[in-house]
Amino acid sequence: MNCQLCQKELDAYREGLLPEGMRVQVENHLGNCIECAESFHLVSLSYQVIEEERRLRTNPFLVTRIMAGIEELAQNRENHQRSPSYQKVLKPLLISVSIAAAVFIGVMFGNIYLPTHPTNNLPVEMTYMNDAALESVDLFSQL
Ligand SMILES: [Zn+2]
Repeated sequence: MNCQLCQKELDAYREGLLPEGMRVQVENHLGNCIECAESFHLVSLSYQVIEEERRLRTNPFLVTRIMAGIEELAQNRENHQRSPSYQKVLKPLLISVSIAAAVFIGVMFGNIYLPTHPTNNLPVEMTYMNDAALESVDLFSQL
């Protein structure tokens, strides 16, 4: 048996529809040929997936359960919206408190990195300058 014939008969073999002689030939080929064995494995897997999906679709309670879950969610949401204390009072309060905390923390960190005493680092040359010689006080007193 060649690969082409084996591949052609795989479906019938899987369903057990082959006559005895042909079935033995296909089995022998599948035992010797890795490619055909692999494609038989894939065909079997795909039929298993199809069977699983068919079984899932016929579950009548799944839809009922999902719809009940959705209704329960909607009910919970409605109940939550009936008590607006959180939405109207607590939320703005939390937002303003967190903004105030953020500003406070920012000011605190800013103060930490601020130098404690002002650094008026004058150049050394400036300390030796004679201010009186540059700007005479007498000049202003005469005005
Ligand atoms: Zn083959």
